[in-house]
Amino acid sequence: MDKLSLIDTHAHLDEVSDLPMVLERARDVGIIAIIAVGSDIVSNRRVLELAEAYRGYVFPALGMHPWGLENHNNDWEEFLRKNIERSVAIGEVGLDYRIPLNRDRQLHVFSRLVEIAKSYDKPLIIHSRAAWKDALEIVKGLGAKKAVFHWYSGPVKVLRDILALGYFISATPAAEYSQGHRRALRNTPLERILLETDSPVRYRGIESEPSDLRRVLSALAEIKGIDAFAVASATTENALRLFGLRL
Ligand SMILES: [Zn+2]
Repeated sequence: MDKLSLIDTHAHLDEVSDLPMVLERARDVGIIAIIAVGSDIVSNRRVLELAEAYRGYVFPALGMHPWGLENHNNDWEEFLRKNIERSVAIGEVGLDYRIPLNRDRQLHVFSRLVEIAKSYDKPLIIHSRAAWKDALEIVKGLGAKKAVFHWYSGPVKVLRDILALGYFISATPAAEYSQGHRRALRNTPLERILLETDSPVRYRGIESEPSDLRRVLSALAEIKGIDAFAVASATTENALRLFGLRL
């Protein structure tokens, strides 16, 4: 299983401890690039710094996570516009209907972010927990061309619309055990799947890191009944194309 080339398309590297070691382990398992997603202004700043420090390996996405919205007014927008050309995507952004934050506020901010992504022709990295349909309606309604519904585990009916519009979903380590996530992956062609870890999110109580992408690869290969090398090369190709990465 050597010579794999993998891309972790969604990691919160700003929250990972002992980053140099973590990145070394990532390289050891064949990860050739990582997209570091931002969650708020502080995290976006850090993501840009990391992309400078690990140029050609860590690529920045700038975002405004619904979980972080409470602490911000609209100051994120100016920051985003000022730095957007340095980013490969807008994310992590989206809606989360399992948090108490006012839905109108979430919908308003997410719509603005989709408009910005569209006007700069950047792909969106979307969090849509329990808000799958509304997230899709916004992206579709505003005519965004490129998007990935990260860690998708919603209804298959909404998934079909996501795929019909040309959007992607991502596979996470939850592909090992989450029935909803596995069902989504089973119903999505390989040409529309990206791999990610969402590090350092905990899976089964253990903090994840990009090298866990090998687990995602194995789980997806098992779901698809395809050789891991074929899954690696297809998903890496997808990531290179969607984010326009130049390694
Ligand atoms: Zn995330």
